[in-house]
Amino acid sequence: MDHKIEPLYDGPLFRNAIQTLDESAKIINCDPNVLERLKRPRRCITVSVPVRMDDYSVKVFTGYRVQYSPTLGPYKGGIRYHQNVDLQEVVGLAALMTFKNSVLGLPLGGAKGGITVDPTKLSRTEKQNLTRRYASEIGPFVGPTKDIPAPDVGTDPQTMAWFMDTYSQEQGGFAQPGVVTGKPVEIGGSLGRNHATGLGVVYVAEKAFEVCKMSMKGATIAIQGFGNVGSFAAKFAHDRGARIVAVSDVSGGIYNGDGLDIPEVLEYIKAHKFLKGYPKASPISNEELLEVKCDALFPCALENQIDTHNAEKIQAKIIVEGANGPITNAATKILSKRGVFIAPDVIANGGGVIVSYFEWVQDTMALFWDEDEVNAKLKVLITKAFDKGYTMAQEKNVDMRSAAMAVSVQRLEKAMLLRGLYPR
Ligand code: NAD
Repeated sequence: MDHKIEPLYDGPLFRNAIQTLDESAKIINCDPNVLERLKRPRRCITVSVPVRMDDYSVKVFTGYRVQYSPTLGPYKGGIRYHQNVDLQEVVGLAALMTFKNSVLGLPLGGAKGGITVDPTKLSRTEKQNLTRRYASEIGPFVGPTKDIPAPDVGTDPQTMAWFMDTYSQEQGGFAQPGVVTGKPVEIGGSLGRNHATGLGVVYVAEKAFEVCKMSMKGATIAIQGFGNVGSFAAKFAHDRGARIVAVSDVSGGIYNGDGLDIPEVLEYIKAHKFLKGYPKASPISNEELLEVKCDALFPCALENQIDTHNAEKIQAKIIVEGANGPITNAATKILSKRGVFIAPDVIANGGGVIVSYFEWVQDTMALFWDEDEVNAKLKVLITKAFDKGYTMAQEKNVDMRSAAMAVSVQRLEKAMLLRGLYPR
């Protein structure tokens, strides 16, 4: 199939998204006019961001904000600070946010932003200066009813606090907490945001076990990546009686067939920063972790971890994608043929953006929920998205990744036709 891509936006991530889009459009017989429109971003903003460095020199960085689709509501998506950020990557990420927000049933469009910079080389002051100037440059295009950024790779709650402060100053000094999510709780952040993605992974895993007629209680699970997503997924799965046999981070993995004591591993990480050297387990490599005998595997670290080289060697019966894009398209096909159930990233790691949505709602009504309420509402939305994807997969006899995308495109198509943008 020829996947037509506008050359200006053509990068690996975007090409992958368009390929999946084309495949899912076939499943639901999507209107070709809608499909054509969905293959391009609505608006790409490029800004120059001059920053006073600590040595008094001025460096000019390039920043982006890509507003992909406003069909379902205000734009929403993170801001990435990384040396590899370019327009094509941001377009790809903005497209993915559009499809993710749609399948999750959120009243939000998709966007993404970024600055080409290695944030580890900036002092705190330089990072603050960079963030404030970037917020100022894209300020006219964002706002609580227009476009609501959030943290991504290289940015964090502090970055969001600076962004919100700059935006508020430029709106006459009136606090505008709803302009960004992922803020510290003290200035309008939501309780439960920090662990939301990991908890969402576990809610989705519970559903995956259920449809595979297995139970999470007593099941063996291996988890790659022990950062925000992986460590909370391990904690919540352990709390539910699963046996976490292996976990890993950038320093390598640890394995214990009887099950790791996750609270103790979390304490170990606090003290030693990395898993390497944890005494009550045997060391394994990250590659070996993916191939250990277990009921379920949660890849929660990086993209492209499972490809055609190791897809045949995976022993798990269920894979829940905590990370973005940990399984390549080709590997998905191999695993699906082997009967492995894959809960795709757009649903499985949707807990983060769902609670970001809750944060925006709470900021908008200036009424805040307690953590149990946030967790319960997260469960409702993420479970509903899983059920819709699963029903589509059964009806059309396709894998969950294609089904999730088909659900997403179907909702976007309906909305676009209803709004009269693309009449048949
Ligand atoms: P993080 O930086 O907190 O943790 C990443 C973890 O992966 C760390 O434990 C790190 O040591 C490990 N790691 C790094 N390189 C590795 C390697 N080569 N092999 C094995 N492990 C390695 O990041 P995070 O927030 O947990 O995000 C992880 C993934 O989940 C990313 O793909 C991210 O895009 C995705 N994601 C995160 C969120 C969120 O809310 N944090 C939401 C949606 C998706």
